[in-house]
This record gives sequence, structure tokens and C-alpha cells, in this order.
Amino acid sequence: MEKYDVIIIGAGAAGLFCAAQAGQRGLRVLLLDNGKKPGRKILMSGGGRCNFTNLYTEPAAYLSHNPHFCKSALARYTQWDFIALVNQYGIAYHEKTLGQLFCDDSAQQIVDLLMAECEKGRVTLRLRSEVLAVRRDDEGYLVQLNGAEVRAGKLVIASGGLSMPGLGASPFGYRLAEQFGLRVYPTRAALVPFTLHKPLLEQLQTLSGVSLPTTIEAANGKRFKEAMLFTHRGLSGPSVLQISSYWQPGEFVTIDLSPERDLAAFIDEERQARPNQSLKNTLAKPLPKRLVDVLQSLGTIPEVTLKQLNAKQQRELTESLHAWRVQPNGTEGYRTAEVTLGGVDTTQLSSKTLEARDVPGLYFIGEVVDVTGWLGGYNFQWAWSSAWACAQAL
Ligand SMILES: Cc1cc2nc3c(=O)[nH]c(=O)nc-3n(C[C@H](O)[C@H](O)[C@H](O)COP(=O)(O)OP(=O)(O)OC[C@H]3O[C@@H](n4cnc5c(N)ncnc54)[C@H](O)[C@@H]3O)c2cc1C
Repeated sequence: MEKYDVIIIGAGAAGLFCAAQAGQRGLRVLLLDNGKKPGRKILMSGGGRCNFTNLYTEPAAYLSHNPHFCKSALARYTQWDFIALVNQYGIAYHEKTLGQLFCDDSAQQIVDLLMAECEKGRVTLRLRSEVLAVRRDDEGYLVQLNGAEVRAGKLVIASGGLSMPGLGASPFGYRLAEQFGLRVYPTRAALVPFTLHKPLLEQLQTLSGVSLPTTIEAANGKRFKEAMLFTHRGLSGPSVLQISSYWQPGEFVTIDLSPERDLAAFIDEERQARPNQSLKNTLAKPLPKRLVDVLQSLGTIPEVTLKQLNAKQQRELTESLHAWRVQPNGTEGYRTAEVTLGGVDTTQLSSKTLEARDVPGLYFIGEVVDVTGWLGGYNFQWAWSSAWACAQAL
């Protein structure tokens, strides 16, 4: 039977980085994945350019039942450490918006970086490896694969969350945690578009493809100011993806369709200059024209000129545009979600080493853990930081 110091299950962002670090520290590492290629989500990420970290990474950008858990790893392996590694490989990158760093050329460069680091650490990578069972005995962990059994003193679970089942996502890590007596918080799709109830969806159907700056607020008061996109299924775009992580089924979200400009003041100014201008043409200046057309057909925007618009109408109109209340029907689910909320309960893991407190030699890193970042490179940074912290302890 083949023996290693460490077996890592999952050759995604966290598994690849952990394997490389552990290998470079002199450990014999076996990295297993059920897919044909390593780092499949990395290749898909950031529209093929991988938003590999965020300049403003801080614990407040992560959701968890234990918001303190991520602090240690994020502080010990920071965004600046990963940026230094990217620089070392000469990978060109740029800040797109809000501190989000993307490769100039291709996400493949990040996978190549990770593979080169694994090579430096003499990591054995075995793809198309389905893990059938895991057992623990006095010497460590026995992992049964399709066709072989392998053994190691330590086992790292880096099998990710449930989003995008087409890319190999599986509940493996959660089941394994439960097998060893660890609690797993219920999971749910996050960073995911909203679907809408049929009547509203039909009213908004012609807006598919329209994007505009917004501020969106969840029922718990959490808000994000980013672009929103109307789709043929409902609402998407960065602000919607962000707020989806804070939304509970049945709740409303409140959308400011003109966060940059006070529409009441704008209408007053326009009325002074052009009293005979229609309200519709006036609002088509700060808002997308197609949106204004739909809002007029729904009766939200009265068919009047500015001088005909009375104070009550103006107040009701601007209030509804600055605080449009929408009750999503649901989300598009794991099929399109970028991440999974919930996962392995962090109170049972060491925040310094990511080792299960009551199961020596068993570690959980990356998305399988109950730590979920905002949109914008935060999830990869958690993968790098948790992987690094774990590798130091192996
Ligand atoms: C379309 C998309 C775009 C994204 N873009 C970004 C972005 O730009 N920036 C960002 O920060 N985050 C982004 N994310 C989120 C990010 O990809 C994940 O948070 C990150 O990949 C998690 O890393 P991980 O190593 O924990 O899991 P993963 O990268 O998901 O890796 C887990 C690996 O485990 C393997 N596996 C699962 N089950 C088994 C099993 N039973 N046996 C063997 N192997 C198994 C899987 O095949 C996979 O290779 C995006 C996600 C998606 C879906």
C-alpha cells in the first residue's frame, strides 16, 4: 500500500496551495481529485481571468456563524503574500474595481502557478480519483480509492462546496465531517442571482440585459452599492449576488435605483429649466430608458409633464425609485451560485491550524468550512490563507 505523510482531497484552490506548501516543507503529499483537471473553478473564475484576491481583504468581508474564526489565517497569510507570489511568477494583473485583482491574460496562469509550486514540493497529483471510503486507525488515515488504497498520517479535506455540480462539486467534505462526529451547518447557495415571481418577472421581461448602478439592502440592514442586472429569470449583477448571501427566503430587499443622484432634487432642477418636458424624458436622463418605459407602462411613472407633476405624486414616485421593494421568489441555486454558505462548524476546528479539535490529523480548509466571502476575490483569499495556515501545521 502506498504511504504518504499527508493526503489532501480536492485539487481546487485550497488543496493545490496546501499541497504545494506542505510539499515544500519536505512532506510527502498525495493530492487527489475526482476531476480530469486540477483547479477547474479557478479556470472558470472571474470570467476566465480569475479575481485571485482583493486588496481590501479583512474579516468583515466574510460570513460565518463564528465571524472571528477567519481572522488568524487571514492575518498570517495575507492578500499581500499572495500578490507577492503572483509577482514572483511575472503574472500581469489589474484592479478592476473595489480592490478586485484580475489576471490581465488568463486564469490558467494562476493554475500554472499552483502547479509549478506543487512541482517544487514534489506533490503527487492523482486525478479522476473517486474517494470511496475513509477510515482512521492508530497509524492515521486509510483512503479507499477506485482501485487502490492509500495511507497517510494526516488527511486534509479541501473538497469545496456545492456550487456548480458540473465542475465536480460534491457533498463529500460535509459527509466526511459528519462521519468523524463534526457538526455541519446547513448549506445554501450564495453569490447567486435572484429569481422573481411570475407576475413581476413578466412585467420586467423586456428589461433583460439592462444594467444600472444600485444600492441594495437586505432585511437585516446589510447593504451593497454595486451594479444590478435584469435577466430573463430575475435579477443579477454584483449588488444582487452580494445581497443574496444575506437574504432569507420570504424576505424583501430594498433597491435604490439611483444611488448617486437625489431624484427629487433632480426633478426640481429640471422643472425650473424645462417645465414642459415630460416626466418620462426627464427620468430617462439618470435612469436607463428601457427601465423608464417599463415603469411608465406599469403606472409607476405618471404620464405628465414636470409642471403637471404634483408634490404628492413626486414624493411617491421618488420614494419608490429610491426604495423599490422586491420580494424574490428564490435564487438560481447551486447551478449558478459562486459559493456555498454554511459548512463545517468552525467551533470544532483550530483557527490556527484548521485541524479538527477532537480528531487529530484531520483538517478542513477552503470553502467546505463555514466561512464564505463576499464577491470580489475574497473566497480565493480564504482558500489561500486557510491552506497556508494548515500547511504550516502539518
Ligand atoms: C463560476 C465561479 C466563479 C468564481 N469566481 C471567483 C473569483 O473570481 N474570485 C473568488 O475569490 N472566488 C470565485 N469563486 C469562488 C471560488 O471558486 C471558490 O470559493 C474556491 O474555488 C474554493 O476553493 P476550494 O479549494 O475550497 O474548493 P474548489 O476550488 O471547489 O475545489 C474543490 C475540489 O475538490 C474536488 N472534489 C469534490 N468532491 C470530491 C471527491 N468526493 N473526491 C475527490 N475530489 C473531490 C472538486 O472536483 C474540486 O476540484 C467562483 C466560483 C464559481 C463557481
